[in-house]
Amino acid sequence: MATAPTAADYQKLRDRIFSAIWDELDPLVEQIENDEHIPRDVVWPILRECGVFGLLIPAEYGGHGLTISQYLPIIAEFAKLQGGIRALVHVHNSFAHALSEIGGTEQKDAVLFGAASGEKSVAFALTEPDHGTGADLGTTARREGDHYVVNGSKWLITNSDFASHFIVMAKTAPAQVSALLVERDTPGVQIEPLPETMGCKGGEHGRLTFTDMRVPVSALIGSEGEGQDHLERALEISRVLVAASSLGTAERALELSVRRAKQRVTFGKPIAQRQAVQRYVAEMAIDVYALRGMLADAASKWDAGRRIPAEASMCKQFGLEAVGRVTDRALLVHGGIGYTREFPIERLYRDARLNWLEEGSPTIQYMVTAREMLGGYQFDDAFGGSPDA
Ligand SMILES: Cc1cc2nc3c(=O)[nH]c(=O)nc-3n(C[C@H](O)[C@H](O)[C@H](O)COP(=O)(O)OP(=O)(O)OC[C@H]3O[C@@H](n4cnc5c(N)ncnc54)[C@H](O)[C@@H]3O)c2cc1C
Repeated sequence: MATAPTAADYQKLRDRIFSAIWDELDPLVEQIENDEHIPRDVVWPILRECGVFGLLIPAEYGGHGLTISQYLPIIAEFAKLQGGIRALVHVHNSFAHALSEIGGTEQKDAVLFGAASGEKSVAFALTEPDHGTGADLGTTARREGDHYVVNGSKWLITNSDFASHFIVMAKTAPAQVSALLVERDTPGVQIEPLPETMGCKGGEHGRLTFTDMRVPVSALIGSEGEGQDHLERALEISRVLVAASSLGTAERALELSVRRAKQRVTFGKPIAQRQAVQRYVAEMAIDVYALRGMLADAASKWDAGRRIPAEASMCKQFGLEAVGRVTDRALLVHGGIGYTREFPIERLYRDARLNWLEEGSPTIQYMVTAREMLGGYQFDDAFGGSPDA
């Protein structure tokens, strides 16, 4: 297992990133929202200087090698800031982390040093316009001598505007999903933007079309047919990180609501003194507290070397439901002015809705959770276990 930074080094790194978020990136948010564009020339140097690109990359590749427990508060803080930057940082770190776990030595050597400084970046190409994911994929990689010939298309691929590499999920045989590490400038791949998104403004989530794209067999990650396992491992931790983003958005919505409730006066009293408003605040706090606890549990299990498919899907699902309820209530606490851009609540509300879709819709999270429960999953026995299990 990679060596994580000491508590003191971690604290220093975290403080540096939090000050960059609020002192340097926050002043850019209005412009990003208006232009629906993240200016790379300004944002990249800030992210690079405080070490964001290498947070989950092991130290031997020039990264910080954070544990998931150490990384969670940082990605949550980005979610408080702005969804577009959060999604960019999330995908960069999640899939550099995935490559560090599933990639071969040559693949890691070729990508991870550059990824740690932000010169390179790995994006994840799974979703397709004309097919479902997993066994239903339509993208094919046919072996021809020492190459694969890839045909098919992907869409909604985050960071498609700058990623140097894509982990492309494709069928190498009718019932065999494999993962290929594809360089951006490979002849035969066309990368196009899609229309702008509801929230998380400024990120790009493009369409990739592969037409007889030839990649060397060395692009295969692991062996043919291991793609489904790679997919599940990568998505498992990425789902926890989406839930951490739900937590960040929910925490900020709660903080803003508490402030607004104390400031807004009607009938001679702050609305914070009204029982109905107090109930909204209490319900928001309960969701935040529950999500914090779930995330701490899931992250500590992963950091201890355990697989956590059930916990990851439960966190992802509960997180999106919690942030949905919290942002609904935050809008009600703010009243009509909350529907305008006067307060960040309008943006947090839109940003949060991506969490329904990232790393699988609710249907998938229910399916994985049910599969684990019916397959004999046991909760830890801190509460005494169950006589009927
Ligand atoms: C901003 C953004 C960024 C994204 N980034 C990435 C990325 O970087 N890489 C990537 O690969 N993908 C990415 N995605 C795609 C995202 O993961 C998918 O949109 C999501 O998993 C849902 O898949 P879909 O869009 O194909 O939905 P669809 O498959 O069209 O599903 C539509 C609805 O039908 C339901 N449904 C579909 N099939 C079944 C079934 N068999 N049984 C029951 N219900 C079903 C779904 O649950 C859903 O409710 C991104 C999406 C967005 C919006």
